[in-house]
Amino acid sequence: MIKDPVVVIGGGFGGVYTTKALLKLGYPVILASKTNYFTFTPLLHEVATGSLLTHDIIFEYETFFKNEDFELYRCEVTDMDIKNKKVILNNKEITYSYLVLATGASTNTYNIKGAENVFELKTAEDAVAIKNKIVSFAQCNKTVEVNVIGAGATGSELIFDIERLLASLKSKHPTLKYKLRVINARNIMGGMDHPTVQGYIKNLTEKYGIEVLNETIAEEVTCSSVITNKGEYGSDITILCAGVKPNTGLYENVLKLDDHGCVQVNEYLQTVENVDIFALGDIISINGKPVPKLAQTAVREAEVVAKNISLLEKGKSMGTYQLRTFGFLLSLGYGNGIGQIFGFHIKGLFAWYVWRTVYLFKTPGIINKLRVSFSWTIHLFQGRSLTEL
Ligand SMILES: Cc1cc2nc3c(=O)[nH]c(=O)nc-3n(C[C@H](O)[C@H](O)[C@H](O)COP(=O)(O)OP(=O)(O)OC[C@H]3O[C@@H](n4cnc5c(N)ncnc54)[C@H](O)[C@@H]3O)c2cc1C
Repeated sequence: MIKDPVVVIGGGFGGVYTTKALLKLGYPVILASKTNYFTFTPLLHEVATGSLLTHDIIFEYETFFKNEDFELYRCEVTDMDIKNKKVILNNKEITYSYLVLATGASTNTYNIKGAENVFELKTAEDAVAIKNKIVSFAQCNKTVEVNVIGAGATGSELIFDIERLLASLKSKHPTLKYKLRVINARNIMGGMDHPTVQGYIKNLTEKYGIEVLNETIAEEVTCSSVITNKGEYGSDITILCAGVKPNTGLYENVLKLDDHGCVQVNEYLQTVENVDIFALGDIISINGKPVPKLAQTAVREAEVVAKNISLLEKGKSMGTYQLRTFGFLLSLGYGNGIGQIFGFHIKGLFAWYVWRTVYLFKTPGIINKLRVSFSWTIHLFQGRSLTEL
């Protein structure tokens, strides 16, 4: 067995599932993470809109990894010395046997001017900030304007749930008036270019009065408007969901990055120039090709990384990573969903139930599964939470 631990940098999907698989294989693991908890991002929009509470979708690493071979360093890694196989964690030099990079991605602002005026949806804190802002509109005496920039999966799920949150607020504050708008550089919503999906989403946007500005580029965001290539639109809250960029600044001087700033790995998920460094998740391109920035991809890559570390250690040949996804599912406000599973389309209430079932099943740990089911049951009988925080 190895002398030094495997160091995993980043405690998101890639890092947590690699840690879990390595501990199962009997390897000692040090996880370096900026926070002491994991966030289940697919349910973040439900926290931002009051269907779930923050603690339903986050969990502490140390309760999840009750293993004496596991150690958490809560820190932002800023320095590494790969020649001597060392990383600096909380001013301490740690020698690693293998290094796993899983630092994920952050919101891409695409050089939009005034980016400090936008809200984003990447962390639990972001979700709470969005909810607090929207709930604060309850007693506004003007029409509240909400703009979401970006109509991929995240932007689309969020705008429909914000509409439902505002509708719930309006039922308690009848004078509330609101206008929702999506600013979309492309001409499809939800990220799936299929007529069934696009037809369904279009009908829903019309039903809920959501204005969709397709082929429109946001150029500047002020505290009261969004300026686009097609004109200026009023905005009381602007949320940027237009895409992400890899968190790879840390590796700039030590590893080979591609033109998009991604760490280049081979089919074994091993970095091009270092056999003892693996990378996965939102930061990689495999043999020069981009990889979908999805949790389901990161989770599958994690299994390959852990297995390959063990095979490498035993002097056996490693397994390759095969890109495959089972489909997609979107929840578009309470009771509405669309998806494609193994090539078949599903939509409406049924798709929404499938979406909830799948994500409940994927929520890590029994306690968090219970928390999510409990919050959803309360929502069913009492409506969503309209409190700030
Ligand atoms: C709102 C939202 C909804 C989503 N919905 C879905 C969905 O429905 N289905 C799906 O498949 N995917 C979804 N995704 C995408 C999915 O979350 C990502 O693809 C996935 O999290 C990538 O995993 P990762 O490990 O690469 O990065 P992350 O999960 O982002 O983890 C990276 C971690 O590294 C930490 N980190 C970064 N730099 C450092 C450093 N220097 N030192 C220490 N720690 C560091 C970060 O704080 C973070 O905790 C969604 C994403 C968002 C934001």
